[in-house]
Amino acid sequence: MSELINTAHKDNCIFCYIEPNWIIDESDDFVVIRDGFPVTEGHTLFISKHCVIDWFELTVHEQSELNQLIISHKEKLTASDPSISGFNIGMNCGESAGQTVMHFHAHLIPRRDGDTPSPRGGVRWVIPERQKY
Ligand code: 5GP
Repeated sequence: MSELINTAHKDNCIFCYIEPNWIIDESDDFVVIRDGFPVTEGHTLFISKHCVIDWFELTVHEQSELNQLIISHKEKLTASDPSISGFNIGMNCGESAGQTVMHFHAHLIPRRDGDTPSPRGGVRWVIPERQKY
């Protein structure tokens, strides 16, 4: 088990143990990996070291640390790939909101012009028939 992940892990939680060679960065309370099934190239996950379910269970301190980590990776991604022209930042909180791994993680998804024919609406696509307004 990685020393990077809190020992109070839950059974069968795939984010309670992260293969060390997946980890591209870490802070006091988070590890950073690339998504294994990326929506776009560079799709990055920020995973809490404590096994809590979602953003609402993070402390204010952890939320602030997370913000800084996301900003830092946004800057790294844009510096290394000039084709990136936008981002989606996502957190699925609860099964009904689409969460599949019940251990906190935030998604940072780089976007590029033309990566989908009709990007308008962005996160509104969580319910495709309500994407247009
Ligand atoms: P959720 O649906 O819970 O918001 O997101 C779970 C994310 O974890 C998905 O984007 C999925 O691709 C990613 N994922 C699931 N299993 C693995 C894995 O074994 N390795 C990595 N790197 N990502 C995974």
